[in-house]
Amino acid sequence: MRVVMKFGGTSVGSADAIRRVAEIVKESTRDHEAVVVVSAMNAPDLRTTDSLIAAAQAAAAGDGDAVAQLAPRLLDLHMRTAAELAGPEERAALAPQIRSMLDYMTDLSRAIAVLGELTPRALDLFSGLGERLNARLIAAALRSAGLAAEAVDATDLIVTDERFGSAAPLEPDTAERVEGRLAPMLRAGVVPVVTGFIGATRAGVPTTLGRGGSDYSCAILGAALGADEVWFWKEVDGVLTANPKTVPEARTLPRLSYGEMAELAYYGANVLHPKTVRPLVQRRIPIRIRNTFNPAHPGTLISPERSEGTAKAVTAIKDVSLITVGGPGMLGLSGVAARIFGAVARAGANTLLISQASSEQSVCLAVPDGEAGPAVRELRKELAGDFSAHDVEHIEVLERVVIVAVVGSGMRGTPGIAGRVFGAMGEAGINVIAIAQGSTENNISLVVSAADGDAAVRAVHRSFAL
Ligand code: ASP
Ligand code: MG
Repeated sequence: MRVVMKFGGTSVGSADAIRRVAEIVKESTRDHEAVVVVSAMNAPDLRTTDSLIAAAQAAAAGDGDAVAQLAPRLLDLHMRTAAELAGPEERAALAPQIRSMLDYMTDLSRAIAVLGELTPRALDLFSGLGERLNARLIAAALRSAGLAAEAVDATDLIVTDERFGSAAPLEPDTAERVEGRLAPMLRAGVVPVVTGFIGATRAGVPTTLGRGGSDYSCAILGAALGADEVWFWKEVDGVLTANPKTVPEARTLPRLSYGEMAELAYYGANVLHPKTVRPLVQRRIPIRIRNTFNPAHPGTLISPERSEGTAKAVTAIKDVSLITVGGPGMLGLSGVAARIFGAVARAGANTLLISQASSEQSVCLAVPDGEAGPAVRELRKELAGDFSAHDVEHIEVLERVVIVAVVGSGMRGTPGIAGRVFGAMGEAGINVIAIAQGSTENNISLVVSAADGDAAVRAVHRSFAL
């Protein structure tokens, strides 16, 4: 099997962590071809990417020494870690590489301090440095652990557009480079250690894929290589049935479908973002979430197939406002829904949930608390004429409510699920303010008051014995 696997900043944030990573990679290469994608070191005392960005911004604000002061700390972090993981020859080769990259950044930062301007293009050079340092360190650690491994800069692999700071991959170009560069390494039994987060334009100018972009890098490479599976190594066993802070008995889900993962992400669960894994979903490549600190656990397998069970997980979005637009003249008033959503969009508010009963007397929609004010202002403007005609009579806002979403593709076509959800609310004495279910039947959402939010999540979890 061919596996592309990604380790996030905390999973590679210390010598102990990288030692665990080396064990995992070693174990994986016994049975599989492996490509490793790494983030920058997120060390307890030094968050590499954050500190690089802060130093570059300080340079632009005139502090010509900010990067010069950070550089020795980064050199120390990486070489101190290398001292625990890599042999003397590896370290002797690594140190000058790290030094020269840091020197280049220091020179560049002085120029930026003089110019007083940091373009997105220049910022990408700084922010992506952590991955370039770390890929070299980890490749050295893997070699010292007896593996054939080689660091590869994704600037040679992932070809992107020119949207610096949040670039998107150009697929045919990327596939060609990946095939040309990584496939021969894999055939030769070498483990490529690829930098997450970065790419380069067709002209070779470095870009970044957006904060947290290493997951995206991993998905892009997995798709380009036609991987059999793509593994995201995190600090949890997998995707949970609920937030364990709310529901202590929450457990890890063995399987999820792509659709269920997308619903969970949308409703605020801490899972992979649908945009991030789109290259994998398009090619129907299975995804696995695994725990660096508990590699014996199989994790959660996320695949195209619908998996067993009805309601699988329950999640909550807090700090939401419910806006209700109503009036006697809304019945049969065509185009009013379009105008309502148009106004909300103009206000830049993100609609999280919509519900309209067939009596058409009111439309209700949920937006994040902070976006309700502007949305209502736009709505009043848009509907001024309808107010004078008394077709619309009120716009009400209920602040600080919670959307509770019950997710599971197996709920589709299974009678009685909604009954159980509302039965659970009734038993717990919770008042349901609004309800929505899309016709995909992948999720049922209810709006409850802030005070009832946690109890509602627990009641659903209990009722479905999640
Ligand atoms: N190092 C980058 C960041 O902190 C990318 C990543 O970790 O995924 O945003
Ligand atoms: Mg990170």
